[in-house]
Amino acid sequence: MPLTILDAWRARVRRSPDRPALAYFDAVLSAREVDEASDALAAAFADRGVTRGDRVGIYLQNVPHYALTFLALWKIGAVALILNPMYRNRELRHLLDDAEPVALVCDESDLEALETSLQGSTIRFFVSTSGLDLQTRDDPRVFTATTRITPAPENDLLGLVEAYRGRVMDEFTPQPDDLALLAYTSGTTGPPKGARISHANAFATASDFGERAGTEDGDVVFAVAPLFHITGAMLDAAVAMVRDCVLVFAHRFHAGVTLDAFVEHRVTYTIGSITVFNAISESPGADRAHFASVKALYSGGAPIPPATVSAFEAKFGCYIHNAYGMTETTAGVIAVPPGLRAPVDTSSGSLSVGLPLPRVRLRTLDPTGRPTEPGVAGELEVSGPQVVSGYWKNPEASASTMPEGRLHTGDVAVIDEQGWVYLVDRLKDQINVSGYKVWPREVEDALYEHPTVFEAAVVGRPDTYQGESVVAYVSVRSGSAVTTDELMAFARDRLAAYKRPKEIHIIDELPKTQTGKIRRAALKPVSALTHS
Ligand code: ATP
Ligand code: MG
Repeated sequence: MPLTILDAWRARVRRSPDRPALAYFDAVLSAREVDEASDALAAAFADRGVTRGDRVGIYLQNVPHYALTFLALWKIGAVALILNPMYRNRELRHLLDDAEPVALVCDESDLEALETSLQGSTIRFFVSTSGLDLQTRDDPRVFTATTRITPAPENDLLGLVEAYRGRVMDEFTPQPDDLALLAYTSGTTGPPKGARISHANAFATASDFGERAGTEDGDVVFAVAPLFHITGAMLDAAVAMVRDCVLVFAHRFHAGVTLDAFVEHRVTYTIGSITVFNAISESPGADRAHFASVKALYSGGAPIPPATVSAFEAKFGCYIHNAYGMTETTAGVIAVPPGLRAPVDTSSGSLSVGLPLPRVRLRTLDPTGRPTEPGVAGELEVSGPQVVSGYWKNPEASASTMPEGRLHTGDVAVIDEQGWVYLVDRLKDQINVSGYKVWPREVEDALYEHPTVFEAAVVGRPDTYQGESVVAYVSVRSGSAVTTDELMAFARDRLAAYKRPKEIHIIDELPKTQTGKIRRAALKPVSALTHS
């Protein structure tokens, strides 16, 4: 029985060494090639003094080097610190000072700037990747693992692979409780927090979610979610590693490149954020044929308006399955099984996020901490092998958020008699209008029913008369137009008076986190932030 992703990966290499494991545009690597390359990289890290428990930052887009680095670090018991490569000096430095990595893997184009700005940090050396920044198929540069590295620069990742190829090291297997990953939350509600993800957490997610999503040997997984976020790292990459699937990378998200890759690699499964599926559906030329090989699409990490799922299915014949998870639950712990459709809650109109994974236990708690009855909203509590033991260097937050392994999610949910979970909203985002509680989600979902609405965010604004009032921000689909009066009238037909937006602002684009989530907090007037 494998206990870690690395165990499962090694078993796979023994079972089917010649089957493809990684693909990047025209380049494909077999499981054996990936394994040998990661052995060499592990030896290179070890030679540079990286040892068990050390963190190594990965500051890359979705490139195959990511998977090689994961395997290499785990082979020496080191911890992968996944970092958003769009973070710049101050944001990056803040995380690095917290996580204290000994090395950083980054793209060659970022190397010089980082070497200067990271003076005085804990980083002792850099490993860089090169020639990977392609955005469209017009750019002919491709990943060729074995040919592009002569002469090998000192710190080039593939150069190191060649230099250390064949170096024999004792096979090391991390303990299930050792850290596999240090992953920071999205920073939607405040500063990102580091979640300590053990090998046992990561393996539980990869195997149980992979099974829930119906992935099988030989399937093709497209990494649409960024690997620097827990969803991409676990539900795209780790699922593919343990389920014997090909993992297809295509650098950073680009709708056209994604659609091409779906056809070229005959992609069967992927998970991304709803933002990605929105971008795909708006992409010129996108049609049903692009989804011909797809068995299951998943969206996780942010609410999906039911109207978006229906529109996507009507256009492409492909149903988007909802999935719920947090960085602190090592990604998805609740998901809609393939072949089933998420029921919609009749009172709120919210689409279910699915059913808990087999080893996950859920409760909803009232404000006094007592479990609520089925069908009654409460704060969602999650326990199971995916729940992390705590935050990095933050024992107080760990003790209050996940006492005895029971994670207080900060999300309000309803669980029905059949076990379907409906996410109401984030506890913190509730709006109080003259004592009436309004969940922004419900108002947003109503606005999404309007055909011109592309994205919507609803926040509370301090109001001397009502306490708070409901304010909506909306962006419209390209090529369509609508007035605020029309949207007001539309909301009037669908929502009780106290839930209706008092103001609707049409803006070009809604503020997002770098993982693609709409940041309501950025739309709140500063005074509202201090009041809530
Ligand atoms: P931070 O904790 O730093 O404020 P974050 O909570 O957005 O940021 P993540 O761990 O990336 O960081 O996201 C987890 C949150 O995303 C959940 O707590 C939940 O609010 C939201 N979420 C995840 N999946 C879904 C989903 N399917 N539908 C609605 N919301 C979701
Ligand atoms: Mg959170």
